[in-house]
Amino acid sequence: MNYVSTRGQSESVSSAMAIKQGIAPDGGLYMPESIPALTEDMLRELCELSYSERAAKVMSLFLSDYTYDELLTDCKLAYGDNFDGYAAPVVNAGDKMRVLELWHGPTCAFKDMALQIMPRLLSRALVKTGEERTALILVATSGDTGKAALEGYRDVERTKISVYYPVNGVSRAQKLQMTTQEGSNVNVCAISGNFDDAQSGVKKIFANRDFAAELDKKGYFLSSANSINWGRLVPQTVYYVSAWCDLVKKGDIAFGDKIDICVPTGNFGNILAAFLAKKMGLPVGRFVCASNSNNVLTDFFRTGTYDRNRDFHVTVSPSMDILISSNLERLLYLTAGAQKTRRYMEALAKDGKYTLDKEDFEKIISEFDGYYTSEDACTSEIKSIFDRYSYLVDTHTAVALDAAERYLAENKNAAKRIVIASTASPYKFAPAVARSLGIEVPEGDAEIFSALSGASGTKVPTQLSAVLTKEIRFKKVIDPEEMQSSVLDFIS
Ligand SMILES: *Cc1c(COP(=O)(O)O)cnc(C)c1O
Repeated sequence: MNYVSTRGQSESVSSAMAIKQGIAPDGGLYMPESIPALTEDMLRELCELSYSERAAKVMSLFLSDYTYDELLTDCKLAYGDNFDGYAAPVVNAGDKMRVLELWHGPTCAFKDMALQIMPRLLSRALVKTGEERTALILVATSGDTGKAALEGYRDVERTKISVYYPVNGVSRAQKLQMTTQEGSNVNVCAISGNFDDAQSGVKKIFANRDFAAELDKKGYFLSSANSINWGRLVPQTVYYVSAWCDLVKKGDIAFGDKIDICVPTGNFGNILAAFLAKKMGLPVGRFVCASNSNNVLTDFFRTGTYDRNRDFHVTVSPSMDILISSNLERLLYLTAGAQKTRRYMEALAKDGKYTLDKEDFEKIISEFDGYYTSEDACTSEIKSIFDRYSYLVDTHTAVALDAAERYLAENKNAAKRIVIASTASPYKFAPAVARSLGIEVPEGDAEIFSALSGASGTKVPTQLSAVLTKEIRFKKVIDPEEMQSSVLDFIS
């Protein structure tokens, strides 16, 4: 199966090439030429398999130039001992809500679900496309992505990764997670500046042709790990299929029953993966797109206009603080085709906004609802969920649970069950979660963890407590102007 650009002006490429390139030459995102079908027989078969086997089966439908055995080998490593138990368990919250926990990986956030497997796919893509150079991954991060990418790429053959974070722009726990990173092919650097300085530094390096030529001579090429890469999207489709299978196996739903799906959304990658699962044939009713006060998507689903010209809010769910949801372009493509998608994206680049044609808008809202949750409502939801169900959730998951509860209250014909994606361990955002429960928040990380653990009766994930005592490997702080030379130092 080949991959085409959402903007329709690039040649089609193999799946390995799409993963290696990341973004299409015309600026669009890669999409499969057609969406493969999940037949009833396949769904029955998937229900009987392990998570790794389900992942290899579903991914092999999209990644036709990888063999099933290659994918199975990679999936077993990606979703094995590095997860604390089952990779994507589903737990109950009340009668109708089923929470899909996606944070049992090495960094305690859902980005592990994709970033544990994608580096392996890239490594194989190099061989499959005849690439002889080593992939050099550069990442600017405000916290979660950097750590998940480091864990994913560590010691992966023919790759090296260098991560840049703003020296005062990440939480103490996030900083520790990164600066104690193990692996022989990793580098971490603090930038004296903010996230934008780090990001524009990385962008400048990517745009510098002379630098690319210099790297080429040394046997390297630049690659990125961000969420518009198809290699990050396709592993995310798997866990929605898997959740449905697990509900069927438990007898919570009957084979063939529909579920609704609610996702706390930033860049629109996670919810788009759920939409792909439905297009493949998974029985899904509606999608609930949950946002925090950066509610550009809520307005989009209510009015048909996407308008990024608005204030940016810093919230307690920072991984959703985003005004341009890049992967929405893939929904536009599936709804309106390449030509119109190109026009919408041109308007977004020029005016910071676009309005859907009536026809496209109606198609989209026949399957999507948008809700947003204020800071206060997020805090109360954490407390209320804990009081009612003795279940502790992080700030991002709370935004989604709040949206799901309002959706259920307003929609009498909702599906029998709604699956809510839970995207981070509550311990990853421990101070905000502790505050929501009314706990007086102590000073140090270890103290916050144990206060939260004591009050909630939940365990501190060893992935997070372990970094508190690990040796710090990366102490360098550099100016943004020094980033390029730091890359050369790293590979020399
Ligand atoms: C990245 C992230 C999100 C947003 O996911 P998208 O795929 O960008 O929509 C939500 N919650 C957490 C904890 C995240 O790290």
